[in-house]
Amino acid sequence: MARESELSDFYDVVVIGAGPAGSCAAWRAALEGCSVLLLEKDLEIGAQVRCAEGISARAVHAFIGVPPPELVSAKISRVRFTSPDGATATLMHEIDSYVLDRKAFDKALAARAVSAGAVVLTGSRALSMKQHGCGWEVAVDIDGARHTVHAKGVVGADGIESRVGRWAGLKTHTPLEEMESCYQYRLSGVEVDQHVVELVFGSGIAPSGYAWIFPKGEDTANVGLGIKRQAAPVQITAKDYLDRWIEERFPGAGSLGEFAGGVPISVTLPLISADGLVLAGDAAHQVNPLSGAGISSGMRGGWLAGGVLAGQVTRGDTSAKALRCYDESWRSLLGRLHENHYRVAQVIFNTTDSQFNSLAGELASLPEEKRTLYAAVSRAVRSRPSLLLQLAGYFRNWWSSDSGRGYPESPPQ
Ligand SMILES: Cc1cc2nc3c(=O)[nH]c(=O)nc-3n(C[C@H](O)[C@H](O)[C@H](O)COP(=O)(O)OP(=O)(O)OC[C@H]3O[C@@H](n4cnc5c(N)ncnc54)[C@H](O)[C@@H]3O)c2cc1C
Repeated sequence: MARESELSDFYDVVVIGAGPAGSCAAWRAALEGCSVLLLEKDLEIGAQVRCAEGISARAVHAFIGVPPPELVSAKISRVRFTSPDGATATLMHEIDSYVLDRKAFDKALAARAVSAGAVVLTGSRALSMKQHGCGWEVAVDIDGARHTVHAKGVVGADGIESRVGRWAGLKTHTPLEEMESCYQYRLSGVEVDQHVVELVFGSGIAPSGYAWIFPKGEDTANVGLGIKRQAAPVQITAKDYLDRWIEERFPGAGSLGEFAGGVPISVTLPLISADGLVLAGDAAHQVNPLSGAGISSGMRGGWLAGGVLAGQVTRGDTSAKALRCYDESWRSLLGRLHENHYRVAQVIFNTTDSQFNSLAGELASLPEEKRTLYAAVSRAVRSRPSLLLQLAGYFRNWWSSDSGRGYPESPPQ
């Protein structure tokens, strides 16, 4: 986007990583009047996205309004659950969703940051940081040359393999049992309903996880799965499970691309701020631990991070103590809700194949218009009453899970 010649030595805010979280943080901080540098190590924004690309329409509309067609691969109105014995139940989807073209979407968010005044540099990898009062000196490799930029505040939005938090002394380690190990293909030559996402459960398909089919237009789809490593034999990988399942489900399909990736099935890190630093998105573990979805929560985390940091830069106090309000705001925005989601995830990932089978059977017997998420949950609770207690905390907050909290009031200009 910008060239190296446009680089200054000093910025109010440096954002590391131009995914959804980083671009929203840079966008917000620039709108608040800060000078902002957004660094992306890849030569092209969105070049190496690892994602099934599903997101609620509400999240997209809140940030950028109704998206232009080139950002959307499919519009989703239903979700189909397939149980281990192959029975299916298609639920009315209460909230409309999109399957995005993430590469285009990530670029569109970075372009919003540029329009607000941020400088975006691609091919620019942050190498290390040195504390300077409450600010930082950030060493950056730009096209093979080393530069140093000074920032009053840094946003670490460098994704799941984040190093920025560690550079600032935060504990960012994820225990293996809190990571879902995922593999995904973009398949062509598959016949799928372009308005339906499908989630497939079963210990033989994806132990302690699930498989997904997200339509991508015409005869293509993102087909992947996530497993808990400890739930599977050591020698069998997520890719092995997926290859086996695809052979059965989509014989003859071709791969247009594939990747492996990890999703933290955990709550937000205990501390996501330090002197002159806030973490956002996957770097802060702001992913929804129930679904593994992190685009919308990362955008909201980034938006909040950019706003809080810009406010403290303006007030002249970016100390750890002053920035602790970011941790508190995130916790009341989505952090506490994710703690409930985490508890539900433990229940769902421990549900047996026969419990899934009987739930799917019951749902399939309902008339289609009555097959809602509410019906699914009430039946699950009936067939396994102990679920009720575990789900109670979750449902107290259910209605607020995508109630618009943390979104801009109207798409920012
Ligand atoms: C298999 C799989 C499927 C998924 N499916 C979905 C889904 O359907 N819906 C959903 O909502 N979420 C999904 N997710 C999660 C989602 O992809 C992430 O939560 C989301 O991308 C997080 O955004 P982010 O901005 O925090 O990080 P990222 O999108 O990872 O962006 C981080 C950026 O930082 C850059 N970077 C890293 N280090 C540096 C550095 N040192 N200097 C400069 N730049 C750096 C990276 O190149 C990258 O561009 C999925 C994840 C996986 C693994």
